[in-house]
Amino acid sequence: MSEDSIENVIIIGSGPAAWTAAIYAARARLDPLVFEGAPSREMIPGGQLMFTTEVENYPGFKDGVDGQTLMMEMKEQALRFDTRVVTDDIVDVDTNRRPFVLRSEGGEELRSHTVIIATGARANWLGLENEERLAQAGGGVSACAVCDGALPAFRDQVLAVVGGGDSAMEEATYLTKFAREVVIIHRRDAFRASPIMAERALENEKVRVEWNTIVTEVLGDDFITGVRMQDVNTGEESILEVGGLFVAIGHTPNTGFLGERIEMDEEGYLLTRQPWRTETSVPGVFAAGDVMDSYFRQAVTAAGTGCMAAIEAERWLAHGVGNDVDTEAPVADSRVAESAADPR
Ligand code: NAP
Repeated sequence: MSEDSIENVIIIGSGPAAWTAAIYAARARLDPLVFEGAPSREMIPGGQLMFTTEVENYPGFKDGVDGQTLMMEMKEQALRFDTRVVTDDIVDVDTNRRPFVLRSEGGEELRSHTVIIATGARANWLGLENEERLAQAGGGVSACAVCDGALPAFRDQVLAVVGGGDSAMEEATYLTKFAREVVIIHRRDAFRASPIMAERALENEKVRVEWNTIVTEVLGDDFITGVRMQDVNTGEESILEVGGLFVAIGHTPNTGFLGERIEMDEEGYLLTRQPWRTETSVPGVFAAGDVMDSYFRQAVTAAGTGCMAAIEAERWLAHGVGNDVDTEAPVADSRVAESAADPR
């Protein structure tokens, strides 16, 4: 990391996508450098899984694994192959220069031929005091029903889902497999969700809706016992006793530091140039994990795209793409031809 050195690949992030990319890049002898991010109130290295208790759907762990252990294991695996890790944030990526020029929060300037962005997305929360505390402590508050809903603590309970979008509908429907009742709490009198998703949820006899209602307080010391709700029209307050709260009010991808240099959708998720590829609108910059996926958002799919990004970066480097590349140029035909022939 001397001033003159040029990295092969800098990986930004520290979730399953980032560590998988690091493992593949390191084993391909690319000597990857990972910026795992600096701990802050909102983010800690390791990403969203650091806030998940038991992960039961990551293959290879038949008895489940807690999110923090899973991330530690992934990081250790990357370190085993001599991945270098910096505990700092990247705050700027200049994609107009080749090699790319990256700047860290600590003021370091780095140059790299390729960049893998795996900064993830963060679940939006209601911002209530007890909500964050219980979510971090495994106290029955979660932003991911698919991750946590099947845990024994939620079996045969009344569970609340906050939100009115497709995620809330999907989570509510999913939770009916385990819950006694699922109460969707929505702040308006109509769902934002697609009609088919809303119908599927509403047709389920275990689901009922509290319309025009917001949650104002999460109750419980070590584990949630209920939520205080308020009718937005009348101001009337009530308490709903629940054994779990699932907040499904959207996610925010961590792409703010990129400005407008790389194409994103209207929500800020990075766009890739082709399906089943991870290269972004900037050749040589790849995206992996939740930062480019608002649809699956699973640890295993993030890991999969991390692998893809590392392989694409490796091929990019192998084809000798260097300092003087026109960033607007289309992808070299040979690369496309080779990629198209890849077995999958
Ligand atoms: P979303 O569509 O943005 O919906 C967020 C919901 O949360 C909205 O109903 C919103 O209420 C509510 N909300 C936002 N902030 C709130 C707050 N502070 N307090 C209370 N409620 C709040 O997000 P999403 O449901 O996660 O979906 C994101 C994208 O993924 C969408 O494009 C969706 O179609 C897609 N998706 C697809 C599927 C599927 O097809 N299987 C599954 C999940 C997600 P308002 O309606 O009042 O704004």
